Amino acid sequence: MTPESPSALSPLVRRVVANNPGLMTGPGTNTYLVGIDEVAVIDPGPDLARHVDAIVGASMIERVRWVLLTHTHPDHWPAAAKIRKRTGAKIAGFAPFPKADEVTLELDVVLTDGDTIDGTEFRLEALHTPGHAPNHLCFWLDEERSLFTGDHVLNGTTTVVNPQRGGDMIQYLASLDRLRKIKRVARICPGHGDVIEDPAAVLDEYVAHRKMRERQILKLLKAKPATIPKIVGALYTDTPDGLVEMAQRQVHAHLLKLKAEGKVLGNGAKTSWSLS
Ligand SMILES: [Zn+2]
Repeated sequence: MTPESPSALSPLVRRVVANNPGLMTGPGTNTYLVGIDEVAVIDPGPDLARHVDAIVGASMIERVRWVLLTHTHPDHWPAAAKIRKRTGAKIAGFAPFPKADEVTLELDVVLTDGDTIDGTEFRLEALHTPGHAPNHLCFWLDEERSLFTGDHVLNGTTTVVNPQRGGDMIQYLASLDRLRKIKRVARICPGHGDVIEDPAAVLDEYVAHRKMRERQILKLLKAKPATIPKIVGALYTDTPDGLVEMAQRQVHAHLLKLKAEGKVLGNGAKTSWSLS
């Protein structure tokens, strides 16, 4: 994955990886260019000059028709306005698209579940998949049976469901279940990491992993009440220091789900949680 150099993944899809690698972003944010004659840019990524140049330079500018946003988080969309300015493309995403990093973005097209973007060679269908973020969309490209999953499903890094950034574990698992029911998915193009060629197995693994964490948390609390940092210290033994805080948010999301289901009692990050 060489950053900022477009590579062809299939007849209709090209990928440009942004040069923003990190613990949360893996090799960098994936920007996908769908179509040749008319192009939809999925997740323009961070506002880095070389990244914007690579996206705009990959097609004749008048062919870039849409910029589609999977969700609000700032590694996915800030390049959108510059691409719109240089190409005239329309920016489309799920509303509301709130402020992030003090930048506001006006959507030209508000997408809701089931809406389609129709290019000359393709149709992309928006699927509302809340959980990682309330306004999260996945995009389904029927012509190639490819699913663009933003941060809902990743390759090489773990999707974080962070209640402080609109994450919701109940919705996240429901959205995963919805994706599992699309039996025709041949490949997943994630927001970070390489293409996933065995989507059914990976989606099953995602659900199994969350269920395992839930069982572990319940087992721990059965032994004795514990705070979130204590739970993370016991369960996330091989997590690098830089990701401990994210692990705590993830556990918080699990606890809020279990609380909504009447299985645990507790509040916030500092006090103890217990079985109800
Ligand atoms: Zn995100």
